[in-house]
Amino acid sequence: MKPSIVVHGGAWDIPDDQVDAHIGGCTTAVHVGRDLLLRGSCALDAVEEAVASMEDDTIFDAGRGSVLNQCGQVEMDAIIMEGASLRSGAVAALRHIRNPVRVARRLMECTHFSMLAGDGALRFALANGFAECTEEDLLVGRELEDYREYLRTGVLRTREEFAGAPHDTVGACAIDRDGHLACATSTGGTRRKMAGRVGDSPIVGAGAYADDTLGAASSTGWGEKIMAVLLAKTAVDMLGGDPGVYAACEASIGILQKRVDGLGGVVMVDRTGLVGFHHNTPRMAYAFFEGPTSEERSGIRR
Ligand code: ASP
Repeated sequence: MKPSIVVHGGAWDIPDDQVDAHIGGCTTAVHVGRDLLLRGSCALDAVEEAVASMEDDTIFDAGRGSVLNQCGQVEMDAIIMEGASLRSGAVAALRHIRNPVRVARRLMECTHFSMLAGDGALRFALANGFAECTEEDLLVGRELEDYREYLRTGVLRTREEFAGAPHDTVGACAIDRDGHLACATSTGGTRRKMAGRVGDSPIVGAGAYADDTLGAASSTGWGEKIMAVLLAKTAVDMLGGDPGVYAACEASIGILQKRVDGLGGVVMVDRTGLVGFHHNTPRMAYAFFEGPTSEERSGIRR
């Protein structure tokens, strides 16, 4: 089996002056994952490392660079899933940890639980050797400025946010040379969200889904709407009808739009290693390495 990996760096109206940074972050992430896969690492390692590299890149709303909630706090959500066993691990509203995706994987592999939230998630991370960081370690000037504007204006955003304002959730899907699939998604969520709000990203089937018999998907966009249609599971299930991976991405975004007037994007790898992506936001940042065709590409899709 020739391995493949696809990543996204959020679906929204990415401004022209941030395009290069988004493409650069996605390209780096795909190279990290590709190199691991080509050296024989498993798909789980590839998606964890690809997503962690984007969590470390401050252009994205994940890990360092995450958005602030209405109380001025960074609360992050992340999930990882393996397609062989259908096991997943997730953290929600996690604070003070640089790489939530690594905590999600530890939870999946070392416990019988699938999701931890808030203080419990932080306690688990610290008990498992993850370093506690400060709010400032995760905070960037861009988000501090936005929070100050929120305090001045009190304006909350919903639909318009996903057409216009920054959302850079990150995600990855991969297949390894043994034909095993995995996916991961990580986010700081939506700007100016209520404290304690959890979006789609850590919800299995909404923010991510992987099944070795079909494919793997990672979603991004308006979380409340994505949850309503379980976007990632919907996209993966469509592969069962054999429409091709691009058609499955397109059809799942069609359901998001028609059924709940949602906005978002999805990336996928199918069980043959072909990759696809689709979105109904103005732009989406992506990069992929597709083993079976040896194609490698990154960009901002309009
Ligand atoms: N889906 C994420 C959330 O609602 C945000 C995003 O993907 O932009 O938390």
